Amino acid sequence: MGFVSNATEYPSEDYHDYIIVGGGTAGCPLAATLSEHYRVLVLERGGVPYGQPNVMTQNGFLQTLMEVDAYDSPAQAFTSEDGVPNARGRVLGGSSAINAGFYSRADQDFYQRSGINWDLRVVNQSYEWVEKAIVFRPELKNWQSAVRDGMLEAGIDPYNDFRLDHVLGTKIGGSTFDTFGTRHSAADLLNYANPSNIKVVVHASVERVLLASSSSYSNASQSAIGVVFRDQMGRYHHAMVVNGGEVLLCAGALGSPQLLLLSGIGPRPYLASWGIPVAHHSPHVGQFLYDNPRNGISIVTPTPLDHSLIQVVGVTSLGAYLEAASNIIPFASPAPPVFIRNPGTSVYLTVATLMEKIVGPLSAGSLTLSSTDVRMNPTVRFNYFHNPGDLQRCVNGTRKIGDILRSRALDDFKFHEWFGVKEFRYVGPELPVDQSNDAAMRDFCRRTVSTIWHYHGGCLVGKVIDKNLKVIGLDGLRVVDGSVFKVSPGTNPQATLLMMGRYIHISLCFE
Ligand SMILES: Cc1cc2nc3c(=O)[nH]c(=O)nc-3n(C[C@H](O)[C@H](O)[C@H](O)COP(=O)(O)OP(=O)(O)OC[C@H]3O[C@@H](n4cnc5c(N)ncnc54)[C@H](O)[C@@H]3O)c2cc1C
Repeated sequence: MGFVSNATEYPSEDYHDYIIVGGGTAGCPLAATLSEHYRVLVLERGGVPYGQPNVMTQNGFLQTLMEVDAYDSPAQAFTSEDGVPNARGRVLGGSSAINAGFYSRADQDFYQRSGINWDLRVVNQSYEWVEKAIVFRPELKNWQSAVRDGMLEAGIDPYNDFRLDHVLGTKIGGSTFDTFGTRHSAADLLNYANPSNIKVVVHASVERVLLASSSSYSNASQSAIGVVFRDQMGRYHHAMVVNGGEVLLCAGALGSPQLLLLSGIGPRPYLASWGIPVAHHSPHVGQFLYDNPRNGISIVTPTPLDHSLIQVVGVTSLGAYLEAASNIIPFASPAPPVFIRNPGTSVYLTVATLMEKIVGPLSAGSLTLSSTDVRMNPTVRFNYFHNPGDLQRCVNGTRKIGDILRSRALDDFKFHEWFGVKEFRYVGPELPVDQSNDAAMRDFCRRTVSTIWHYHGGCLVGKVIDKNLKVIGLDGLRVVDGSVFKVSPGTNPQATLLMMGRYIHISLCFE
């Protein structure tokens, strides 16, 4: 892509119709689409994913999440105040360049309740545009096929075969990994941009949105006129919008509320406590932040499994979605008989995982600043299971995991036999033996909570932005990413975020 350059090459000041902050899952399709008619600048704090084998392949998924550093790795690690480790994308393509690749459209309820102005015909066209470019039908191998059959035995029916839309029952979803296991992220959608109308600048950390007085015709007193960003050498640059242009924040559920706060857009007393000059009092910035709990179990399988990320999903009406993965992980010796040895000397272990994502969730948390340095993660708390409804959903889903685990379809994957003894091995948390015991099940849920990385909120529709995603009370500033969602769409959010990036140009072009 000839239009991608390093921030160090950007002049100290330049002008554009639209400035997109964050070349992530929603930002890239939005940039490609707007460039059909406008001069667009994308500012991305990370580098490019291409040429990074772990990022670009399905097999590199875990490695990418493990190889993190404070300022430069494609995955930026953070741990919420709840004590749960988590990750966010820091690379062109955003979190779609480090995720597990599962692709499934939003549920119908989401469009009704999200508060966003949706035209469902354009929604479908936008999904189709994305799917033609970067979505594939996965080929199920041993573990995923067995889980699909196990889900059906456990009563998660009907069987819907391969479907991209959200339907009750068991289905194979789409994948952004192709049949060779190569990743296709949102960054690939930039191939559809008009190259003479777009500039993508990487290693550009946006520090602040610049505001100025609005014209006398506007209801808002201030308007976004540009942003300040820093390159890797620490030099400052000003990217400005021409008259009538806009700044579009696509920095993700952590990045967008963080940037609003650093720009003086947030609760007045809170900003004052940080010594940040208040540009616009917006009391709910950083509030209503959510993360869907993930619970589940992993077992050691007697036969080596093919590596797989999520391909099959069980959509229940119990408040939980069931998914599965199988990983081959290096393991320290001594090696018991269940471990397999590769042709070298390393010892490997194949681990099969069954997990649930809690729908919603109902429990809300919040985001605050930890520093005025934008490169540092903000402080987040998700308050997992504070709402008893989430806990009940987890208990329901965990019982389904038990049903799947007991299914005949999984028989070949459960028991090792050596020295005439049959043994079943968990890696990590074990399911309660008596799954009818509510207290034990609730305890399991609380003890084993982790993240499925679908955190969202922080700039909610109706609280921080309006139904066209404009920041309430300001001109020329919108938020287009997962921070605007009150609930996570469908079983997994990336399809909806990719669609939304394509979709939102409609309101920009025709409102
Ligand atoms: C490990 C992992 C696995 C996942 N698996 C799946 C899955 O299988 N299926 C699924 O549907 N979803 C999955 N998700 C969730 C999904 O990927 C995210 O919800 C989605 O990608 C978020 O999109 P976004 O546009 O809101 O933000 P992002 O895609 O994260 O984009 C934000 C971008 O903004 C940039 N940015 C932030 N701050 C600044 C700044 N100050 N200046 C410049 N740039 C900035 C970031 O570097 C990033 O590129 C997973 C997520 C993770 C982390």
